[in-house]
Amino acid sequence: MSHVLAAVAWPYANGPRHIGHVSGFGVPSDVFARYMRMAGHDVLMVSGTDEHGTPIQVQADAEGVTPRELADRYNRVIAEDLQALGLSYDLFTRTTTRNHYAVVQELFQGLHRNGYIVPKVTTGAISPSTGRTLPDRYIEGTCPICGYDSARGDQCDNCGNQLDPIDLINPKSKINGETPEFVETEHFFLDLPALADALRQWLDTREGWRPNVLRFSRNLLDDLQPRAITRDLEWGVPIPLEGWQDRPDKRIYVWFDAVIGYLSASIEWARRTGDPEAWRKYWNPKGGEGSAVSGGDALGYYFMGKDNIVFHSVIWPALLGGYSGEGARDGQPGELGRLNLPTEVVSSEYLTMEGRKFSSSRKVVIYVRDFLERYDADALRYFIAVAGPESNDTDFTWAEFLRRNNDELVAGWGNLVNRSISMAAKNFGAIPPVDPAGLTEADEALLAVARAGFTTVGDLIARHRQKQAIGEAMKVVAEANRYLSEQAPWKLKGEDDKPRMGTILHVALQVVSDANTLLTPFLPHSAQQVHELLGGTGVHAPMPVVEEVEDLDGGPAYPVLTGDYTVGARWESVPVQAGRPLAAPKPVFRKLDPSIVDEELARLAG
Ligand SMILES: [Zn+2]
Repeated sequence: MSHVLAAVAWPYANGPRHIGHVSGFGVPSDVFARYMRMAGHDVLMVSGTDEHGTPIQVQADAEGVTPRELADRYNRVIAEDLQALGLSYDLFTRTTTRNHYAVVQELFQGLHRNGYIVPKVTTGAISPSTGRTLPDRYIEGTCPICGYDSARGDQCDNCGNQLDPIDLINPKSKINGETPEFVETEHFFLDLPALADALRQWLDTREGWRPNVLRFSRNLLDDLQPRAITRDLEWGVPIPLEGWQDRPDKRIYVWFDAVIGYLSASIEWARRTGDPEAWRKYWNPKGGEGSAVSGGDALGYYFMGKDNIVFHSVIWPALLGGYSGEGARDGQPGELGRLNLPTEVVSSEYLTMEGRKFSSSRKVVIYVRDFLERYDADALRYFIAVAGPESNDTDFTWAEFLRRNNDELVAGWGNLVNRSISMAAKNFGAIPPVDPAGLTEADEALLAVARAGFTTVGDLIARHRQKQAIGEAMKVVAEANRYLSEQAPWKLKGEDDKPRMGTILHVALQVVSDANTLLTPFLPHSAQQVHELLGGTGVHAPMPVVEEVEDLDGGPAYPVLTGDYTVGARWESVPVQAGRPLAAPKPVFRKLDPSIVDEELARLAG
């Protein structure tokens, strides 16, 4: 048994999330966490909403609310949507808790003490009317290279050159049109070059990563520059140094505080369980043995879209290593001890929608909530698992969603469940026994295929090959459907034939039960239903709940997502019990009318 941290990317709280977001990080991390728990590991799955930074400040200003009010609104929406998808977070919290502020400040101080945070005076753009840092992408002007008149401060979309906003001709703020002022301002920088060697050594020890992630991360190390970790902004975590702590105009930069969320959420989870040190088994090398690089018996898997790789394969490990005293400047770990670096960074590719990039502003979007108002969570989870952007950019089309739902989920798995249970219910009223004549070769063969699935499917999920894993589980379903067609138990109506009919149905129901367990990480809602249709009681697939909680340190109350995942099915074949009563089943999956394709396309155009 290992202690497994499932660290899931933090959605930014400036709006509801669409299905592209949850297919990149949400569903894959949940499939992994559910499987690992079923296989007997001790899993901690954490995340929350990322709530600081300029975009939230700008949007709040535009709506005439405070940044906190805006974050409150979307924190709740996002938590509810993730709950509706059945994502089994041990804790889904937020970055505006006092606990998070304290942990961010502890990491800042530790890195500062060890010499990895250095002050530097730079020239930066500020908005003259607010005094706030104006990030590069909020500045627009004429490109000094090609003359394009809407070049952004960080790059020109016309000639593709990287730019410095100070070089733009006629720079303007995209927020309010004013001309930015370029002023000298003092900020703190993370000394990434001092951590590059340690990062390179660590990356050299990584095994099993997707090759593109490893290659991309190694390349980043060749050109590491010190990176600003503070901004001129009022919305964020205060800088925990004398002379800075009380300044209202300087804050820690959002990227720095957000990645620390994995750690602060783990600490918050532990404090809420009543064992405030419980987070350490996922984060500190065991008993101080080994280095933070090896992690001892604690494993940490980080799930995100590919645009976030740099934060998880370079910057977050740099923070952890620097805090632990493992870079070129050495140093001592702070009070949190030496902290484990990621075991693996699991990044997904992009999902597009009907051939286009998701875009809320251009309305190329379907939000999780709208999707779940019209379709079932497991229908979406199935599509993401079987056709999601695991290792290639992939396109979501309504026609393909309809086909996958109707031809595979309904006609394949749903049909197997439905016909085997209804035949047994109608002819026996219960799970029939195996005939004393015993099992035939065909019976044994099918049972063996299902049993073998526990190894095949499990190993694939553990190695983040979910698409292949669900394919293997669906092969078991296809084999069982073929078996039923070949054995044709419905023809065995005579009194003499009935024992054999019972045996066939017993075998089929055993395989339904096994296939249901194999599919549970992917389809937890329907897995619970199938468990009950087979006469099972109690929790088969535990579900998350939204709870209103008090801030542990006196801040305002907020909703969290949490759950008891110690209950539920194990990753093993459980013999079905002859004689257990069965009733005629209700369909587990809904067949969709083909007209939904045109309706959804009209909505998208509309
Ligand atoms: Zn240009």
